[in-house]
Amino acid sequence: MKSEPHLQAVCGKSVGECLRIIEQFHGWRAPGLLLGMYMVDWALELIGEGVEADAIVETRHCLPDAVQLFTPCTVGNGWLKIIDWDCFAVTLYDRRELSGFRVHLDLGKTEALCPDLFNWFMRRVPKRSLPLEVLEKAILGVGRSVLTAESVVMTDAYKRIKKSGTAVCPSCGESFGADRPRLCPSCRGEGYCSPLEPQSASGAA
Ligand SMILES: [Zn+2]
Repeated sequence: MKSEPHLQAVCGKSVGECLRIIEQFHGWRAPGLLLGMYMVDWALELIGEGVEADAIVETRHCLPDAVQLFTPCTVGNGWLKIIDWDCFAVTLYDRRELSGFRVHLDLGKTEALCPDLFNWFMRRVPKRSLPLEVLEKAILGVGRSVLTAESVVMTDAYKRIKKSGTAVCPSCGESFGADRPRLCPSCRGEGYCSPLEPQSASGAA
Protein backbone atom coordinates (compact mmCIF):
# COMPACT_ATOMS: atom_id res chain seq x y z
CA MET A 1 0.00 0.00 0.00
CA LYS A 2 1.28 3.43 -0.88
CA SER A 3 1.56 5.70 2.10
CA GLU A 4 -0.01 9.13 2.06
CA PRO A 5 2.24 11.56 0.14
CA HIS A 6 2.21 14.06 2.99
CA LEU A 7 3.71 11.44 5.30
CA GLN A 8 6.52 10.47 2.95
CA ALA A 9 9.98 11.94 3.28
CA VAL A 10 11.10 14.52 0.72
CA CYS A 11 14.61 15.83 0.27
CA GLY A 12 15.68 13.52 3.11
CA LYS A 13 13.34 15.10 5.64
CA SER A 14 9.74 14.81 6.73
CA VAL A 15 7.31 17.01 4.79
CA GLY A 16 6.53 18.88 8.00
CA GLU A 17 10.20 19.69 8.52
CA CYS A 18 10.49 20.85 4.89
CA LEU A 19 7.47 23.11 5.31
CA ARG A 20 9.03 24.67 8.41
CA ILE A 21 12.30 25.25 6.55
CA ILE A 22 10.45 26.82 3.62
CA GLU A 23 8.45 29.14 5.84
CA GLN A 24 11.51 30.24 7.80
CA PHE A 25 13.58 31.03 4.72
CA HIS A 26 11.06 32.21 2.16
CA GLY A 27 8.68 33.94 4.55
CA TRP A 28 5.63 31.84 3.67
CA ARG A 29 4.73 28.46 2.25
CA ALA A 30 4.48 29.58 -1.38
CA PRO A 31 2.81 26.95 -3.58
CA GLY A 32 5.60 27.27 -6.15
CA LEU A 33 8.13 26.42 -3.48
CA LEU A 34 6.15 23.39 -2.35
CA LEU A 35 6.15 22.17 -5.94
CA GLY A 36 9.84 22.98 -6.11
CA MET A 37 10.43 20.82 -3.04
CA TYR A 38 9.04 17.80 -4.91
CA MET A 39 10.97 18.71 -8.07
CA VAL A 40 14.28 18.92 -6.22
CA ASP A 41 13.43 15.75 -4.27
CA TRP A 42 12.95 13.80 -7.50
CA ALA A 43 16.03 15.25 -9.20
CA LEU A 44 18.14 14.43 -6.13
CA GLU A 45 16.83 10.88 -6.07
CA LEU A 46 17.56 10.39 -9.79
CA ILE A 47 21.07 11.78 -9.67
CA GLY A 48 21.86 9.67 -6.62
CA GLU A 49 23.99 10.18 -3.55
CA GLY A 50 27.66 11.04 -3.81
CA VAL A 51 27.34 13.02 -7.05
CA GLU A 52 28.55 16.60 -6.94
CA ALA A 53 25.67 18.23 -8.75
CA ASP A 54 25.23 21.75 -10.02
CA ALA A 55 21.76 23.13 -10.60
CA ILE A 56 19.99 25.25 -13.17
CA VAL A 57 16.53 26.66 -12.66
CA GLU A 58 14.58 28.18 -15.52
CA THR A 59 12.67 30.80 -13.57
CA ARG A 60 13.50 33.38 -10.92
CA HIS A 61 10.29 32.64 -9.05
CA CYS A 62 10.28 30.28 -6.06
CA LEU A 63 12.35 27.48 -7.64
CA PRO A 64 15.75 29.01 -6.82
CA ASP A 65 14.82 28.90 -3.14
CA ALA A 66 13.84 25.21 -3.36
CA VAL A 67 17.29 24.42 -4.75
CA GLN A 68 19.04 26.58 -2.16
CA LEU A 69 17.11 25.01 0.72
CA PHE A 70 17.36 21.35 -0.25
CA THR A 71 20.69 21.05 -2.08
CA PRO A 72 24.16 22.48 -1.40
CA CYS A 73 23.76 24.68 -4.51
CA THR A 74 23.27 28.40 -4.01
CA VAL A 75 23.53 31.47 -6.20
CA GLY A 76 26.30 32.70 -3.92
CA ASN A 77 28.54 29.64 -4.25
CA GLY A 78 27.99 29.58 -8.01
CA TRP A 79 26.57 26.05 -8.14
CA LEU A 80 23.07 27.33 -8.93
CA LYS A 81 22.35 29.25 -12.11
CA ILE A 82 19.11 30.98 -12.95
CA ILE A 83 17.99 31.13 -16.57
CA ASP A 84 15.22 33.69 -16.76
CA TRP A 85 12.71 31.96 -19.05
CA ASP A 86 9.86 31.67 -16.58
CA CYS A 87 9.73 27.91 -17.27
CA PHE A 88 8.94 25.90 -14.17
CA ALA A 89 11.83 23.47 -14.47
CA VAL A 90 14.99 22.50 -12.62
CA THR A 91 18.01 20.50 -13.78
CA LEU A 92 20.57 18.87 -11.51
CA TYR A 93 23.65 17.63 -13.32
CA ASP A 94 26.94 15.97 -12.54
CA ARG A 95 29.41 18.80 -12.96
CA ARG A 96 32.13 16.43 -14.24
CA GLU A 97 30.10 14.11 -16.47
CA LEU A 98 27.79 16.94 -17.64
CA SER A 99 24.81 14.63 -17.46
CA GLY A 100 21.83 14.86 -15.20
CA PHE A 101 18.08 15.13 -14.85
CA ARG A 102 15.58 17.84 -15.69
CA VAL A 103 12.28 17.92 -13.83
CA HIS A 104 9.42 20.17 -14.91
CA LEU A 105 5.83 20.84 -13.96
CA ASP A 106 3.85 18.82 -16.52
CA LEU A 107 0.79 20.87 -17.48
CA GLY A 108 -1.03 17.88 -18.99
CA LYS A 109 -0.69 15.85 -15.81
CA THR A 110 -1.48 18.87 -13.67
CA GLU A 111 -4.69 19.65 -15.54
CA ALA A 112 -5.79 16.01 -15.39
CA LEU A 113 -4.81 15.26 -11.79
CA CYS A 114 -5.18 18.56 -10.00
CA PRO A 115 -7.41 21.17 -11.67
CA ASP A 116 -7.03 23.57 -8.72
CA LEU A 117 -3.26 23.56 -9.10
CA PHE A 118 -3.56 23.93 -12.88
CA ASN A 119 -5.92 26.88 -12.57
CA TRP A 120 -3.67 28.55 -10.00
CA PHE A 121 -0.53 28.03 -12.07
CA MET A 122 -2.17 29.27 -15.28
CA ARG A 123 -3.74 32.18 -13.36
CA ARG A 124 -7.20 31.19 -14.53
CA VAL A 125 -8.89 31.88 -11.20
CA PRO A 126 -8.68 34.87 -8.87
CA LYS A 127 -6.34 34.26 -5.93
CA ARG A 128 -9.17 34.73 -3.46
CA SER A 129 -11.12 31.74 -4.75
CA LEU A 130 -8.19 29.38 -4.14
CA PRO A 131 -7.06 29.70 -0.51
CA LEU A 132 -3.48 28.71 0.23
CA GLU A 133 -4.60 25.83 2.48
CA VAL A 134 -6.53 24.32 -0.44
CA LEU A 135 -3.55 24.66 -2.79
CA GLU A 136 -1.14 23.30 -0.20
CA LYS A 137 -3.31 20.27 0.46
CA ALA A 138 -3.62 19.72 -3.29
CA ILE A 139 0.15 19.90 -3.85
CA LEU A 140 0.96 17.63 -0.90
CA GLY A 141 -1.69 15.23 -2.25
CA VAL A 142 -0.28 14.96 -5.78
CA GLY A 143 3.44 15.26 -4.99
CA ARG A 144 5.61 14.36 -7.93
CA SER A 145 2.74 12.83 -9.95
CA VAL A 146 2.22 16.20 -11.69
CA LEU A 147 5.89 16.36 -12.67
CA THR A 148 7.87 14.87 -15.53
CA ALA A 149 11.56 13.99 -15.29
CA GLU A 150 13.99 13.20 -18.08
CA SER A 151 17.67 12.44 -18.28
CA VAL A 152 19.69 15.10 -20.08
CA VAL A 153 23.20 15.90 -21.23
CA MET A 154 24.35 19.46 -20.80
CA THR A 155 25.04 21.41 -23.99
CA ASP A 156 25.33 24.92 -22.56
CA ALA A 157 25.25 27.01 -19.39
CA TYR A 158 27.24 24.43 -17.42
CA LYS A 159 30.46 26.42 -17.16
CA ARG A 160 31.03 27.89 -13.75
CA ILE A 161 31.13 31.66 -13.92
CA LYS A 162 34.64 32.56 -12.92
CA LYS A 163 35.20 35.74 -10.99
CA SER A 164 36.98 38.30 -13.14
CA GLY A 165 39.93 40.31 -11.94
CA THR A 166 39.31 43.29 -9.70
CA ALA A 167 39.66 46.86 -10.93
CA VAL A 168 39.42 50.08 -8.96
CA CYS A 169 37.20 52.80 -10.39
CA PRO A 170 39.26 55.98 -10.87
CA SER A 171 36.18 58.09 -10.22
CA CYS A 172 34.69 56.70 -6.97
CA GLY A 173 37.47 54.39 -5.73
CA GLU A 174 35.22 51.32 -5.41
CA SER A 175 36.13 47.89 -6.80
CA PHE A 176 34.42 46.27 -9.77
CA GLY A 177 34.98 43.50 -12.34
CA ALA A 178 38.12 44.17 -14.37
CA ASP A 179 36.63 42.80 -17.61
CA ARG A 180 34.40 45.88 -17.84
CA PRO A 181 35.16 49.38 -19.17
CA ARG A 182 37.40 51.73 -17.22
CA LEU A 183 34.74 53.28 -14.94
CA CYS A 184 32.53 51.22 -12.63
CA PRO A 185 28.90 50.71 -13.77
CA SER A 186 27.63 53.30 -11.30
CA CYS A 187 30.01 56.02 -12.49
CA ARG A 188 29.05 55.17 -16.10
CA GLY A 189 25.50 56.14 -15.22
CA GLU A 190 24.20 52.56 -14.98
CA GLY A 191 23.68 52.64 -11.21
CA TYR A 192 20.41 51.54 -9.62
CA CYS A 193 20.45 54.05 -6.73
CA SER A 194 21.74 57.54 -5.90
CA PRO A 195 23.95 58.11 -2.85
CA LEU A 196 22.51 60.63 -0.36
CA GLU A 197 24.28 60.76 3.02
CA PRO A 198 27.30 58.68 4.10
CA GLN A 199 26.57 56.78 7.35
CA SER A 200 29.16 56.09 10.00
CA ALA A 201 29.72 52.48 11.05
CA SER A 202 29.35 53.31 14.73
CA GLY A 203 25.87 54.70 14.20
CA ALA A 204 26.81 58.27 15.18
CA ALA A 205 26.22 60.88 12.50
ZN1 LIG B 1 32.98 54.47 -9.83
